[in-house]
Amino acid sequence: MKVFTYQRPTAPADAVAAARLPDTRFIAGGTNLLDLMKLEIETPAHLVDVNRLGPGLDRIEVTANGGLRIGALVRNTDLAADARVRKDYGVLARALLAGASQQLRNKATTGGNLLQRTRCPYFYDTNMPCNKRHPGSGCAAIGGFTRNLAVLGASEACIATHPSDMAVAMMLLDASVDTLQPGGQVRTIPIAALYRAPGDTPQLDTNLAPGELITAVSLPPPLGGTHLYRKVRDRSSYAFALISVAAVVLPDGSGRIALGGVAHKPWRLPAADAAMRQGASAVAAQLLAGARPTPDNAFKLPLVQRTIAAVLNDAKKG
Ligand code: SF4
Repeated sequence: MKVFTYQRPTAPADAVAAARLPDTRFIAGGTNLLDLMKLEIETPAHLVDVNRLGPGLDRIEVTANGGLRIGALVRNTDLAADARVRKDYGVLARALLAGASQQLRNKATTGGNLLQRTRCPYFYDTNMPCNKRHPGSGCAAIGGFTRNLAVLGASEACIATHPSDMAVAMMLLDASVDTLQPGGQVRTIPIAALYRAPGDTPQLDTNLAPGELITAVSLPPPLGGTHLYRKVRDRSSYAFALISVAAVVLPDGSGRIALGGVAHKPWRLPAADAAMRQGASAVAAQLLAGARPTPDNAFKLPLVQRTIAAVLNDAKKG
């Protein structure tokens, strides 16, 4: 591991001020970053520990419009167990509990979960070229082993998928992300605008500026309906999604749907939401339009279709 400096501020303003230095990373739960540092995939010169920031970054609060404001330091376990989340945002609780292991969820934070990095195997193999790790070096996955990789929205530079289950539910719920920038400016970013396609700059996972700190994630008022999250993976726990389906289905059959494990970001399309009352085939056709699978991962397309059908069938049972 490379030498780095370490700071542990107690105020968000001090954290973003510290992040003005080049090659700075924030660390909270560290459930992804520490592994990346040990492998020298991430080699920050400065580490800013945000675990003691206050006030309120570890709280879940009801907002004036009846939604929820989730502090960035709320642990995944606490968020999944919160009575308001379980009652009104069940898809979020289910997605959280489908992720990682209990020990990891005890450490992982809301902000960090959104920012975890891809689990593309070539990203983690420093002997292999990877445009996300070293821009311009090439992509070992293209033409390599692609079973877990993207079928939608990929580019000639990168075909990685986003690994978070929680982010798929947040996308479904139209969450927004509050941030603080190094200059002291605050902004709110709709989660659909937080994530990006890889394009020719796959080293950028999000549209956050350097040194921009996530302080909270806000959820709109509850949608009602039936909330479902179904994750398909190679083993029944502690594995990333081959594909996942998040859905909210209202009593009249309308609703929302999003996919995980298929693209560089959680995948949700207005046309798919609009097709919910037409059934699983119509929804899948919209979500998978333009899919470009490889021979290794072409199985994801029928798997998505079947999983959407199963989720919509479950919704009918309530
Ligand atoms: Fe790197 Fe992306 Fe290619 Fe994986 S798919 S090797 S993360 S550039």
